[in-house]
Formats: sequence, structure tokens, C-alpha cells
Amino acid sequence: MDHTRKRSPASFEQWFSSVQFQAFDGVRLELIARNEFVLDWVKTHFLPALQDELERLAAKPVLVSWVVRSDIQQPVCEAPPEVSHPRSEAVPNARPRSDRPESPRSPRSPQSIAARARLMATLMPKFTFANFVVGPSNELAYAAALGSAGGGGPRYNPLFIAGGTGLGKTHLMHAIAHRVLDRQPEARIVYVSAEHFTNEFIEALQNHRMDEFRARYRRDCDLLLLDDIQFLAGREQTQEEFFHTFNALRDSDKPIVVTSDKYPQQLQRMPERLVSRFTSGLVADIQIPQLETRVAIVRKKAELENIVITDEIAVALAQTIQSNVRELEGVLIRLAAKSSLTGQPIDLAFMQREIAVVSPQRPDLLSVGDIQKAVCHHFRLSSNDLLGKDRHKSVAFARQVAMYLCRQRLRSSFPELGRAFGDRDHTTVMSAVRKVESLRGSDPQVKAHLEELERRLASSDN
Ligand code: ADP
Ligand code: MG
Repeated sequence: MDHTRKRSPASFEQWFSSVQFQAFDGVRLELIARNEFVLDWVKTHFLPALQDELERLAAKPVLVSWVVRSDIQQPVCEAPPEVSHPRSEAVPNARPRSDRPESPRSPRSPQSIAARARLMATLMPKFTFANFVVGPSNELAYAAALGSAGGGGPRYNPLFIAGGTGLGKTHLMHAIAHRVLDRQPEARIVYVSAEHFTNEFIEALQNHRMDEFRARYRRDCDLLLLDDIQFLAGREQTQEEFFHTFNALRDSDKPIVVTSDKYPQQLQRMPERLVSRFTSGLVADIQIPQLETRVAIVRKKAELENIVITDEIAVALAQTIQSNVRELEGVLIRLAAKSSLTGQPIDLAFMQREIAVVSPQRPDLLSVGDIQKAVCHHFRLSSNDLLGKDRHKSVAFARQVAMYLCRQRLRSSFPELGRAFGDRDHTTVMSAVRKVESLRGSDPQVKAHLEELERRLASSDN
């Protein structure tokens, strides 16, 4: 490491202007050198430092493989004097390189190459805006994400994308990164899950590398994409660190995009000051897509994966798998794989057989009805009481508990649960779930009721 830092940045970047980054899959880094001479020099003088850095970040050995090719296209560093750097509107604060102060963490450092390699290894190439199907359930999140990527429209800071699992939050995050990189290859984008952020933070604390950690997330970051923020629940020290990271970035007008499986106000064990920051920009939600959007998604995925299916199958699939796009995609890919292995055409009968294998209608699988029955039994109520209009405290409480358990156990959507509970509004279900969740932590009696019910459901479950 040290022998690299002693070299002037110019010498580092001059050599790396003849090296192209090809791929990094977390294990193998592939580089292309313009000629043998460059290869030899870079290998001898810079590679050990680069490799150290990558191995430290990846926490495992990294293999570096080289190819010599004279027609390299996108060098990891462009040669300094003759290259101009048009200021792009995509990330307003990504200053042209000439403005940036030199530092060991400058964009030409091995760390920045490692950061770029790590980003490229994480981004899914197919998660682009072009591959995202827009419908009423996700149009706000899509438009806002495009805005964050500098693709037109207002840019809200922060942008908070909330939505259930498998509904495209990560896809939109990656799409933002791809879009910004397309227009501004030098932008320093950091994309991490909150879990990864937490682990990196703990590791930095343990190894006395907080300066480096802060440089990565504050100084050397033009755009922060933090996925699945709900993971920070109850992690006070990480929350504190993120709070300062957030403020530092926002104060210098660097865009921040956060995703979550809950709305900010529903995040458990998250300090109010963070919640209020999350809501200070735009909160855009993604709901379960309607049938038409699901059909369009199936068609899009089929096209991307070169799978030929009829319209009838696309519609039937979208009708069968309703609440999770990831699952929809999984079944489609399984159908295609099975069909190509066995030579059977993907027709309706084939599809139904396969779905029965993947998600069998197990009779012992819990349903909303089972949970309602268990709650009625526990609180000695009739199902008419539970689903009716009775606002008496004890009935209302039992109803809220049933809603909470359905949400926890079945992950049903709020509107779906509203319908299953006597056509109530989804906001009623949301506040019931929130209330029971908070009582569970503060009221031992409520906790005991829930535990008893959970035991009962567990025994009827298997
Ligand atoms: P989340 O992060 O919300 O759990 P992901 O972004 O990982 O979900 O999406 C799960 C899968 O569903 C991905 O393969 C993604 O491409 C796909 N997907 C979700 N929504 C859409 C959409 N509107 N258009 C195309 N693909 C989608
Ligand atoms: Mg995700």
C-alpha cells in the first residue's frame, strides 16, 4: 500500500490510463492492459497495493487476471491533461476532477478503483430503467428514481422508496446507478445494503479505520444508494453513524436514495430524527402491481431471457402469482428451464403442473381464515364479531391482533387484509399492525396473548 501512496497520483493515473477494468465478481478481477510493457509495469509497481486493498474489502483472496489488448475503451483512469470532463447534470455535485483536491483517496487511488470494482460487481446488469415495467403501482417511485438519476423531473433529496419484498426496490436502485454511470462514468456512487453498511461500520470500528469509512461514505461519495434501511432497526450506533453520514451528504447536496420494506413512520426502533429526515424529501411507495402490469412484467422478463411464451401463458402466470414479482420471475425461468430440458412446450397444463410443484397448495398452509379462527377462539368471539362493525374495545383489540398476525405470518398486503376483514380501509389495517407491534414491546399482557396465539398457530401449521 505504502509504496503506491509514495508515487505521485499522476504516475499512478498515467499507467492506469492504459488499463481497462473488465470485470470483478468478488473473487476474480479481470483487467486489460494496452500492451505488455504496461502490463509488466503495473503488475510490478501497483498491483500488490491494489490487490491488498481488494482483499481487505472483499475479506478473501482476490485473483487478478490480465489480458493484453491494444483497443482498450474505458480505462480505469483517463490520462490527465488532454481529456476533458464535461460537467454532467446527472449528479450535480460530482465535480470535474480538476476541482478535486488531491488526497490518498482521490478518484485515481487504488481505493477508488477498488470501490468501482466493488460497485460493478454488485450491480445487476439487467436492473435498468429500460427493463423496468411501469404501472400505476410503481409509477411514482419510477419517476422519482429517474429524477434522482438526473433523468429529468425534480430531484428529491432524500428519495425514500417503500414497498414490500420482491416489488422492484433494488431494481430501481441499480437502475439509478447504471443511468448515472452511463452519463457520468466518473461519478462516485456507493450502493450498499444497510446490512453491509452495518458490517463495514463495525469492522471499521474494530480495526480503527473510521477515517477511511467516513471518507468512503461522506467525502468520496457523490450519490449514496442505501438498500433495505429497515435492517438498521435497533442498531443505535450504526443509526448514529448513518445520521451523520446522511447530514454530511445532504448538506453538500449529494443525492441519497433509501429503500425500505416499510414507510418511514412504521420503521421499528428507528430514532425520530432519522425518521423525520427520511420524510423530508419524497416518500414514494411501490404497491403490488395490478394484473396488466404483471402481464407486462412477464412479457418483459421472457423477452430479456429469450423465453418464448404465448399471451395465454403470460396472463395465466400473472393471474396465478399475484403478490411478488420475484416469484413470478422465478416461476417463468423454471418453466423455461424445464421445457428446454424435457422438450415439452410451455402450455397451460404444463404451467399448472409446475406451479403445483413450486408452490403447492399445502392444506396445512395457514390462511387468513385460520388466523381469524384462532383469534376468535382465543378471545371467545364469533367470526361475525371479528369482521363486523363492533367498536367495543375488546373486540377492536382482538381484530387488531388478528390483522397483526396475518401481516406477520402471511405477509399479505394491507389492502388485501382490509378486504379480508370486512372491507376495511388499508390504513385501518396499517395502524392496527403498528399499534399491536408497539404494544407488544410495552405491554406484557399483550405480549402474552400474542405468544399464546403464535404457539397455537405454530402447532396447527405443521
Ligand atoms: P425488492 O428489492 O423490492 O425486494 P427487487 O428489486 O429485487 O425487489 O425485484 C425482484 C425481481 O422482480 C427482480 O428481478 C426485478 O427485476 C423484478 N421486478 C420487480 N418489479 C419489476 C418491474 N416493475 N419491472 C420489471 N421487473 C421487476
Ligand atoms: Mg431488495
